[in-house]
Amino acid sequence: MLDDINAAATLQALDAAYHFHPFTDHKDLHARGVKVITSAEGVFLHDDKGNKILDGMAGLWCVAAGYGRQELVEAAATQMAKLPYYNTFFKTTNEPAVRLAQRLAQITPEGLNHAFFACSGSEAVDSALRTARVYWQTKGKPNKKIIIGREYGYHGSTTLGASAGGMADMHRQAGDMPNFAHVLPPYWYGKGGQMSPEEFGIYAAREVEKKIHELGAENVAAFIGEPIQGAGGVLIPPETYWPEINRICKENDILLIADEVICGFGRTGKMFGSDYFGIKPDMMTMAKGITSGYVPLSAVMLHDRVAEVMINDAGEYYHGFTYSGHPVSCAVALKNLELIENEGLVAAAEAKGHILRAKLAEAVGDSPLVGEIRGVGLIGAIELTADKRTRKGFAKKGRTGTICRDLFIENGLIMRAVGDTMVFAPPLTITESEIDTMVALAKKSIDQTYENVK
Ligand code: PLP
Repeated sequence: MLDDINAAATLQALDAAYHFHPFTDHKDLHARGVKVITSAEGVFLHDDKGNKILDGMAGLWCVAAGYGRQELVEAAATQMAKLPYYNTFFKTTNEPAVRLAQRLAQITPEGLNHAFFACSGSEAVDSALRTARVYWQTKGKPNKKIIIGREYGYHGSTTLGASAGGMADMHRQAGDMPNFAHVLPPYWYGKGGQMSPEEFGIYAAREVEKKIHELGAENVAAFIGEPIQGAGGVLIPPETYWPEINRICKENDILLIADEVICGFGRTGKMFGSDYFGIKPDMMTMAKGITSGYVPLSAVMLHDRVAEVMINDAGEYYHGFTYSGHPVSCAVALKNLELIENEGLVAAAEAKGHILRAKLAEAVGDSPLVGEIRGVGLIGAIELTADKRTRKGFAKKGRTGTICRDLFIENGLIMRAVGDTMVFAPPLTITESEIDTMVALAKKSIDQTYENVK
């Protein structure tokens, strides 16, 4: 809590005057007043009004190891004192970057042995897409430029990332770049109609194949997809989907990029979403959980078959960032991976995910508003519906979700609303009693939402 109530008011006023926020409607923000987060511990945030809020989103899906980890603070401080910064351009390196690259090669699926570092998920996606195009140029196929993504996909906010993603509002504002195409997402609840999830998984994968044939495989560089589409509403593909995508990319000579920015580092109950679904990527992008969000870091892992071309035949790669391989970020990532391993957080995510979903089903499964409770590990969603039987959406899309999200926050729980789907991804360290608190707050908020909209 801020010592002086006036200090909080001052911060709000200064924020309104000087701070232009990401993904924010500023008129609405200024009308409501910004929430000042002052400290955090475990799975709880504290705000300037003295409220304790359970962070059911681990920040932005990233605080895997929980808040307040002194081990990470010390790793950063020690590295800062020793070597706070040096770049990795022009034939230099540093020990944390080397050791992290090696560690990532050990824990990612076989063949992904080469790490390129950046700061954000968006930069990792940008780097992977550029690498895909340079790869094909180098192989003498410069026409292979088109990137196929999916509707409701989210691959970050740089212009390439926004173009690869399938968020209509972002395309409208940012301008859609040429050489991107989008296909149906494997979103059975919303798009599967009368098909079984398994049938729909194959159907949705074949939409990718149809698009490749329509564009000409000789013009397509890569397909990019999140193992589970997080920001699009935690869309979990049926188990038939990814094996079919593996086949389609291989047969058509298209690079497969798994965007693991949310799914990576234990979130799905496996180290990577690719492990969970059996995805065989040529490149993998990762960020967020790599440092539990304590410092910015992202990476692209290149498969040997891509790296060989890039290393042996591409000449100089005209791409990189001042902070690529930042020693402090890499040192924190190494310590964070040690915590994830030593504390068994990957297995914990699987076990606690089951408990959380079972308890949610018991508490709110019968609510007329709740259409589906879905999840894998500790990423999940409660999809609200106007009609449980037909899976029908609401006439005014997003209204019920927004009411519900606001009630969640009022009651002391952060979950995000994606349209009318309430999504959650708590820290992997959440305890069973904290799960009970989360479920009780979710029930209270969903019951209040029903009273509000029925
Ligand atoms: N890719 C995915 C799958 C994401 O979910 C995100 C962010 O949520 C990004 C990329 C972009 O990451 P960042 O916000 O760090 O640029």
